[in-house]
Amino acid sequence: MKFSLELFPPKVTDGIEKIYDCLAGMSEVNPDFISVTYSAGEAKAGLTLEVCDYLQREYKIPAVAHLTCAGQSVQTIDTALATMQKTGVTSVLALRGDLTEEKKLTDFRYATDLMQKIKGLGGFTLYGACYPEGHVESKSFDDDIEVMKIKNDLGVQEFLSQLFLDNADFLNMRDKAVRRGVTAVLAAGIMPVTQAKRIVRMVQLSGAKIPENVAKMLAKYEGDDDSLCKAGLDYAVEQIRELGKEGLQSAHLYTMNDIATAKYIRSGISDLL
Ligand code: FAD
Repeated sequence: MKFSLELFPPKVTDGIEKIYDCLAGMSEVNPDFISVTYSAGEAKAGLTLEVCDYLQREYKIPAVAHLTCAGQSVQTIDTALATMQKTGVTSVLALRGDLTEEKKLTDFRYATDLMQKIKGLGGFTLYGACYPEGHVESKSFDDDIEVMKIKNDLGVQEFLSQLFLDNADFLNMRDKAVRRGVTAVLAAGIMPVTQAKRIVRMVQLSGAKIPENVAKMLAKYEGDDDSLCKAGLDYAVEQIRELGKEGLQSAHLYTMNDIATAKYIRSGISDLL
């Protein structure tokens, strides 16, 4: 099984130095790759690429740069892609991005438009997003599977999934995607329930649900942050181990830049890697 990590870059005002300790710690986890999130706007985009470049040069860890359409024009996308070509950061998670007042869609409407552009340039390895419980804006789950097939046919080599807490959702998506002819690797996006407030916010944003066993865990450890954190980490390890029995090819950990979380999960699944 492949094992990868997701990080977010430091704030523009902080500079890359702020994240050096985090990158050093994450390098000890020895992941297959590290993906770095992206927030539209040139300065922040620069930091995503700077972190990716640093990971590859300093630690020889393959980096995947997230890149979004929202809030971007053809020019800003061209600039980002040219920087990637120059620095050798050529793996891209091509996304639409979440839409806000400041981040609207202009030249690219869907992630697939961005993928088309990147494919046309050649020399990049494409990653795409997928949604075990469906994307919040999709009319139907079948539409989502169709979008996966389009991304697959545009050359996506690996899908990184949205977080989910019930393995049945991921397996259902995988089975449907495979039946539809999706051949890319499907990585399970795992976010450990280490903080009650954070997981509630994340499921609200992503449209994921909290299954009964997780709701019980949250209730049991209410007010006891340390015990919830331990139980949440163990739940995430168990999620990956169970998916491993179902033939999971790749697990992608949402680390929230927490080294201890990444190390704990890595040690809990080391025999599968
Ligand atoms: P799309 O694939 O474009 O899908 C968006 C909607 O349009 C869906 O409902 C889909 O069904 C529909 N659709 C897609 N293509 C077509 C088509 N060709 N025709 C008709 N309908 C279509 N956001 C950030 O801002 N920065 C990040 O770094 C970031 N990292 C992420 C990492 C992962 C692993 C995931 C799962 C999400 C991440 N996101 C990030 C959030 C993501 O940008 C949002 O979920 C966004 O709303 C959708 O992005 P997408 O690439 O899946 O969009």
